[in-house]
Amino acid sequence: MNKLIQKIIRPSVLEDVAYQVPDASGMVKLDAMENPYRLPEILQIDLAEHLSRVPLNRYPIPTYRALKEKMQAVLGVPSGFDLLLGNGSDELIGLLIMASAQPGTVVLAPIPTFVMYERFARHLGATFIGVPLADNLCLDKTAMLEAIERHQPAWVFLSNPNNPTGGIISVSDIITILNAMENIGFVVVDEAYEPFTHTTIMPYLPYYSHLVVMRTVSKLGLAGVRLGYLSAADALLSELEKIRPPYNINVLTAATMMFLLNHMTVLKEQAEHICAQRQYLINKLQEYAHVTVYPSEANFILIRVLDVDKVMEELKNRHILVKNVSHTHPLLTNCLRITVGTEVENRLLLHALTDIFLL
Ligand SMILES: *Cc1c(COP(=O)(O)O)cnc(C)c1O
Repeated sequence: MNKLIQKIIRPSVLEDVAYQVPDASGMVKLDAMENPYRLPEILQIDLAEHLSRVPLNRYPIPTYRALKEKMQAVLGVPSGFDLLLGNGSDELIGLLIMASAQPGTVVLAPIPTFVMYERFARHLGATFIGVPLADNLCLDKTAMLEAIERHQPAWVFLSNPNNPTGGIISVSDIITILNAMENIGFVVVDEAYEPFTHTTIMPYLPYYSHLVVMRTVSKLGLAGVRLGYLSAADALLSELEKIRPPYNINVLTAATMMFLLNHMTVLKEQAEHICAQRQYLINKLQEYAHVTVYPSEANFILIRVLDVDKVMEELKNRHILVKNVSHTHPLLTNCLRITVGTEVENRLLLHALTDIFLL
């Protein structure tokens, strides 16, 4: 059996490990960029009633026309621009690369960044090129432009704000990259953290036919729903449509989203609350002598400490779970990524850190 596995499964898969998610039971969960708030109870009850009438015996309507039209109107997609929906934006990243991957196809992104760009590139037989950020963890624009010139990538992925650093690339820098990529390949701006920043490239879709804007409802407060979306020129969308699994959005996800699009203010208010708590946390974290706090426009904060293993261990002892990103890239040595939680959770975290730094 093992011989068969070795023969059939691609080396890129054999060498990899499955995506790791630590057990968080009983922990204050500040590791996964989830919105800490649930829907108000009255809305939960209305939603349950709405979902109870969904015909589970039927396949979804595979065009998702009504859902897409409503999303397009509510979520600020320029008029005339269609959407491609994915089972989370993770699926969309896979579809984009799948549509292009041939031996020699290059996927390029600044690193450290969201791991799925590299994972999908590797598993679909494309070549991933990572361009290190500058020492201050901002985009190294010169290095990016040189790498684009040299590697002629099919796709440039820009997580904006960037996961796991929280930093933002300005619209004018994105436009510089778009200009450099003209006639070379597509620029995918991954706006997963759009609810927590004022920067978006979405309004520029009509001006750049090689721009793809991707978002998700996960960080907005619906991580469990699994719905990602992207918009781009129709010519690209119709090619992607050919490889999208026809029923990739299940009826419960579609119905949940239809319902919640009528209640976006609830989620937007939660996002505003998270932004206020982000500022509170940044201010407090900056008071610690041996902590470097990086600017964030997302719902998480990257910090650098003196001894990441000790801080992780002591936080765990106090039942607080954050993400250790220290070993993911040399630029992140001794770095932790902290998701902004509720006011109570954030205070617990700060108390714990004060304790730990006094040890
Ligand atoms: C969380 C995250 C995603 C994944 O979103 P899903 O829709 O939950 O699959 C995509 N891109 C970035 C940058 C993220 O941080």
